[in-house]
Amino acid sequence: MGIYNKDCHTRLGEFVMTTKIPVGILGATGMVGQRFITLLNNHPWFEVVSLAASPKSAGKKYSGAVAGRWMMKEPIPPVVADLTVQSVEDDMEKIAGRVSLVFSALDMEKEKIKEVENGFAKRGVAVVSNNSAHRFTPDVPMIMPEINSDHLKLIKAQQKNQGWQGFIVVKPNCSIQSFVPLLTPLLKFQPKEVVVTTLQAVSGAGKTLMTWPEMQENVIPFISGEEEKSEKEPMKIWGQIKNGIIVPATSPKISATCIRVPVEDGHMASVSVSFAKKVAMKEIITAWKKFDPLKGLDLPSAPHPFITVMEEENRPQTRLDRDSGKGMGISAGRLRESNVLDYEFIGLSHNTIRGAAGGAILIAELLKKKGYR
Ligand code: NAP
Repeated sequence: MGIYNKDCHTRLGEFVMTTKIPVGILGATGMVGQRFITLLNNHPWFEVVSLAASPKSAGKKYSGAVAGRWMMKEPIPPVVADLTVQSVEDDMEKIAGRVSLVFSALDMEKEKIKEVENGFAKRGVAVVSNNSAHRFTPDVPMIMPEINSDHLKLIKAQQKNQGWQGFIVVKPNCSIQSFVPLLTPLLKFQPKEVVVTTLQAVSGAGKTLMTWPEMQENVIPFISGEEEKSEKEPMKIWGQIKNGIIVPATSPKISATCIRVPVEDGHMASVSVSFAKKVAMKEIITAWKKFDPLKGLDLPSAPHPFITVMEEENRPQTRLDRDSGKGMGISAGRLRESNVLDYEFIGLSHNTIRGAAGGAILIAELLKKKGYR
């Protein structure tokens, strides 16, 4: 595969050739798909050449397909407004012939999503998925670029196992982005038990406060499947590759409670943690501040710093701090000793940027940097 689009620009009579990787978005009309569109607008490495959704949207101009349901603050970028939406399943062959990579943000049955994502990988396309369908497929890496970029090595084994030219990489659920990045630099102190409560925005359900009026003035103490994902996914991310699969980590033990709260964007996590090793508060703060593993790689979407440590007693706050690092940074605050475990703290991340489209774009940037596309 490896198709490239060549754009030629003239600047002061000088001929400049830029090369961008052509990409597609599956589920382009949904909440996460729309976020992909705004974040990929003018991206220095990727050019959106294909938008796909259900047969209901297929055949319409993108602006028509999302009329009355465009949820982003920014207007629809003119470069995609007139693109004709294709059908994910019926037009797979055509889409695969035009793109080198697709971002998957589909809301379909899990088995259907697997079929679609496998279909693209089989046709030589790199699939970077937001969906949970393949998160526990043993040879599919689940990547948070700052944490487990070494798991990309699994791609070779996956291609060999499946006989694919393309491949599938997934990103984890949005709920874990507010606490796993903060626990990772503390692994050297051997966390034993983690009790986490997440306070999750309505956009995580693909909705807004306007389209979900029941959420106004309300808190709902249940999000289907979210607690299981929050407890299980970190173990795969912290796992080790052995014999071509990932063997999940076995500690720390995580207990999660996931709650829907009436904010548009931003997932907050309240965390209590115990450690096997004695650790001072100062050491935790230093570990957070120094944790910036992508520094020096020059990935366009990587935030620096990765973790912003806030000293004020009432920060981070969802509305004030979710856009840290253009929505790709993680905020930490309220670190204090606990009366029950060892320490408590608050984490915050933007769920549709770091937790969804932005996190997937960062994976794609890493794939390009490491030579996989
Ligand atoms: P959404 O707003 O409901 O969008 C779903 C998308 O899937 C639409 O583009 C829809 O196309 C398309 N689709 C539905 N049925 C289809 C079919 N049969 N064939 C082809 N396309 C079909 O959902 P979302 O909130 O963007 O979430 C998308 C996925 O990302 C979900 O799996 C979700 O769990 C995951 N995710 C969401 C978030 C978040 O913060 N929202 C975070 C992480 C992961 P039409 O418009 O044509 O129906």
